[in-house]
Amino acid sequence: MALVSLTDVTKTYPDPSNRKKQIAAIDGVSLDIQAGEIYGIIGYSGAGKSTLVRLINALESATSGSILVDGAEVTTMREGQLRKLRLGVGMIFQQFNLFNSKSVRANIAYPLKVAGVPRAERIRRVNELLAFVGLTEKARSFPDQLSGGQKQRVGIARALATSPRILLADEATSALDPETTHEVLGLLKKVNQELGITIIVITHEMDVIQQIATRVAVMENGRVIEDGEVYSVFSNP
Ligand code: ADP
Ligand code: ADP
Repeated sequence: MALVSLTDVTKTYPDPSNRKKQIAAIDGVSLDIQAGEIYGIIGYSGAGKSTLVRLINALESATSGSILVDGAEVTTMREGQLRKLRLGVGMIFQQFNLFNSKSVRANIAYPLKVAGVPRAERIRRVNELLAFVGLTEKARSFPDQLSGGQKQRVGIARALATSPRILLADEATSALDPETTHEVLGLLKKVNQELGITIIVITHEMDVIQQIATRVAVMENGRVIEDGEVYSVFSNP
């Protein structure tokens, strides 16, 4: 059984220029993401990628269709179940979304604090995560004292803090140069291989998908126009 399974999912918004009309940001999307894989979603700006992310982590509800995560139907979940679901989905972002007024270790500790994890356990976990992402020496630094690649390492550590099953990377390397991108993708591979976490990589960059994903869905105008193994999807002209 797939870990994430979308069947004929549609999400419409009122058209800002004509409130009586609807725009389909997602238009009949079906896809299956298997546990343990690195799955890419690629498309130009406006293709519907961010909307798809917000549907998968249940920040928004679908207009129609079915979304199963771990066999559970997300579209009919109540708030309590949704909160639990969101805890199982870590997120990293293009602009890192770190708290600039908090130290590296406090950034990583934040989700644990929100979850009510006791201080001693938080400190143990933060140290483990710092070691995993290679930032032990930067524990007391602040985000503006870090390079872009280091900031994203903090973002990854923070996303992993509550031990999610799924990591959603939304344009997570789009603000980084190619060398740093390669480095961060290497860390994501380690997250996948050593922790067994399923990773969904959303990007507009084919190179990123080719470096990291095994399967990919190509989105255009809210639809998946092609999907399958990366080598076969990208091999044809
Ligand atoms: P991508 O992430 O691939 O750039 P988006 O999911 O952000 O694409 O957007 C897909 C389409 O849905 C775009 O046409 C966008 O304008 C529209 N859209 C996204 N979010 C909203 C919203 N909250 N209200 C109205 N239209 C939206
Ligand atoms: P700062 O990291 O800026 O000194 P705090 O002392 O308030 O800020 O710590 C913020 C969070 O960082 C704490 O809630 C705790 O979980 C974590 N933390 C604090 N001290 C350590 C430590 N020695 N090692 C690892 N994490 C720590």
